Amino acid sequence: MSIEDFQPLDSGIVPRFAGPCSFMRLPFAEPREVDIALIGVPFDGGTTNRTGARHGPREIRNQSSLVRRVHHVTGVSPFDLLRVGDCGDAPVNPLSIDDSLSTIEAHFAGIRQSAAVPLAVGGDHLITLPILRGLVDGTPVGLIHFDAHTDTYDSFFGTRYNHGTPFRRAIEEGLLDPKRMVQIGLRGAISHRSNYDFANDAGIRIIFIEELVERGIRDVMGEARSIVGSEPTYVSFDIDVIDPSIAPGTGTPEIGGLTTREAQAMIRLLRQLNIIGADLVEVSPPLDPSGGTAMTGAVLLFELLCILADSVSARRRP
Ligand code: MN
Ligand code: MN
Repeated sequence: MSIEDFQPLDSGIVPRFAGPCSFMRLPFAEPREVDIALIGVPFDGGTTNRTGARHGPREIRNQSSLVRRVHHVTGVSPFDLLRVGDCGDAPVNPLSIDDSLSTIEAHFAGIRQSAAVPLAVGGDHLITLPILRGLVDGTPVGLIHFDAHTDTYDSFFGTRYNHGTPFRRAIEEGLLDPKRMVQIGLRGAISHRSNYDFANDAGIRIIFIEELVERGIRDVMGEARSIVGSEPTYVSFDIDVIDPSIAPGTGTPEIGGLTTREAQAMIRLLRQLNIIGADLVEVSPPLDPSGGTAMTGAVLLFELLCILADSVSARRRP
């Protein structure tokens, strides 16, 4: 099947409020049929406080019906570059973290074998761990991580697998190279002074929101690009990096966050990196019945899709 078979529904024929509810009104597809696979991971069993991110994929599909096809800054449409489809949801067990870690990993290992590049929608941030387990094949990859939190805690209530620990586990398991990791937008009071010790000792570059405001987006993203370099890199975007006045529908909100305009500009500055996959996590629709947080997530998902399409099409160009 060709690119023509993987176009969003034409809103001049089927209005945006009608038709099937898929990501960006794309056709449903098997991973082997597409170059970029949009995949929901509706699991929030790793949440430590306010839940609801399991409903993220469905509501982001709904809100993504607003997304139009051509990026207004670059003039490029990801749907003209590559075949992009909605590959449905990864299988999860809402009552078992262990089961879900296994089934999500197996699902993304299948995606890797299909040669499609995944763009996942959570779910809470724990899902990034099994995604990386499925995707990364021996050599640790780099990470650009937008978040209010470091997510490198060791354990919580005796469990080592929750949405505060995925990046620590991923480093321990050899999935991520901490020297090629940058975390951007961190802020908020912490439980202990030692909370950043693991990240600092491992060599992760943490850019607090205060430093970002001081230096500006372009300077900080230039540094982030040089940290990950041209080697394979994963991008993970936690919606709580956005200020909760804009995106309140998330489990662990922190004031003093990014505007949507800043977030868009920052994602756009990831062009021409070697990106092997990305995710957008922690949108909890029940915590924002207005739909605004999911709408923000849907539009940022389009920004992520555009840089992913840019990266994948550059790699596949003969
Ligand atoms: Mn997070
Ligand atoms: Mn967070």
